[in-house]
Amino acid sequence: MNFDFSPEQTALQMQTRAFAQEHIAPVAARNDREEIFPRAILDNLAPTGLMTPTLPPEMGGAGADFIGEALAFEEIGKVCSSVRTILSVHNSLCALTIKQWGSQEQQTRYLPELGHGRLLGCFALTEFTAGSEATNQNLGARPVGDEWVLNGRKAWVSSGTKADLCLLFAQTDPAQGHRGIAAFLVPTDTPGFQAEKVWGKTGLRSAHTAHLNLKDVRLPATQLLGRAGDGFKIAMSALDNGRYGVAAGCVGQAQACLDASVAYTKERQAFGKPIAAKQLVQEMIADMAAAVESARFLVYRAGHVKNKGIRNTYETSIAKLVATETAVNVARQAIQLHGAVGYTNEYPVERHLRDALATTIYEGTSQIQKLIIGRHLTGENAFV
Ligand SMILES: Cc1cc2nc3c(=O)[nH]c(=O)nc-3n(C[C@H](O)[C@H](O)[C@H](O)COP(=O)(O)OP(=O)(O)OC[C@H]3O[C@@H](n4cnc5c(N)ncnc54)[C@H](O)[C@@H]3O)c2cc1C
Repeated sequence: MNFDFSPEQTALQMQTRAFAQEHIAPVAARNDREEIFPRAILDNLAPTGLMTPTLPPEMGGAGADFIGEALAFEEIGKVCSSVRTILSVHNSLCALTIKQWGSQEQQTRYLPELGHGRLLGCFALTEFTAGSEATNQNLGARPVGDEWVLNGRKAWVSSGTKADLCLLFAQTDPAQGHRGIAAFLVPTDTPGFQAEKVWGKTGLRSAHTAHLNLKDVRLPATQLLGRAGDGFKIAMSALDNGRYGVAAGCVGQAQACLDASVAYTKERQAFGKPIAAKQLVQEMIADMAAAVESARFLVYRAGHVKNKGIRNTYETSIAKLVATETAVNVARQAIQLHGAVGYTNEYPVERHLRDALATTIYEGTSQIQKLIIGRHLTGENAFV
């Protein structure tokens, strides 16, 4: 096992760090407070290749491998989980899924547009009655001539009001259950497609979330991704990429909370000394550091498996479970170490906690990750 990064990986890490400090850090708190979608940040990000780190440069990507992607998402996660969420959805759930499952025509039409940031992607799997039970798809798609007609609702779609292209899952044959699900590439300006912003989320407030309403949305057959019936497999493969990006971002977020806590405890005086000199404070710092490093190595291990192009559901689910729970725990400890000021928006640690709470819910809750890990190890499916 090689613990050194290649020169290309290090360069991408440094480039992303510089971008994040210059373009994201100064506006992250305000964007959160006022629920501002970070369009200007995305416009500046697009020419760097970071909208889709693993796509080749000719498609607008950075030509990175999955370790490079993790390093980039870590840097963005350190300053703003909302921006990292938008990228995870755009890149990992939408673009990489088209790369894996799209026809040559679909890849040629969409990947350069997504890579160069001329189109923004979103991913609509969840419904009000299909969250953890994602197989329970009710939004219907029926063939009419050489078109598909879609009707129904989707819930909690990140970037749903802002995206240009929605990778959307629909039931084409209820009798077939999850084998009757299909994936569609839906341009969001198609007549009958409506998105409504969800206001007042606890965190990830600048990564807008939407509920969708589709009424007689007509799509040509060319918008079907893969074959009708492949939809659930496509969704699960997308989540293997999505969860990886989430996990990497959470490592960055937890690292930011640790760094902020080290700096603050060295400054803050109590009982005649910096609080960093107190053993109980150092114990918390040491616990936080051990958790962050453990999560980081699980992410890199998952990235190593992904780079081989082989199935990585187990490694990715462990990385997602540990990294997201670590981000929550470390952010909470960071607030504790900051005392009262940590409980205000004067410092970013409270935003990190609010943002991290969503990551143990979306792209499969922590409980669902445990069921995936348990099924892999025991061969027993506890979902049914
Ligand atoms: C900020 C945000 C952004 C999101 N973005 C997207 C997006 O872009 N696209 C998209 O499709 N979805 C998105 N989602 C939806 C998200 O993926 C779902 O919320 C998630 O899958 C959980 O579904 P649910 O909310 O219906 O919870 P439920 O499925 O109702 O779960 C409620 C609780 O029950 C537990 N539970 C459920 N089943 C089991 C079981 N079998 N065993 C043990 N415990 C169980 C869960 O772990 C959870 O604790 C987003 C959600 C949020 C909060």
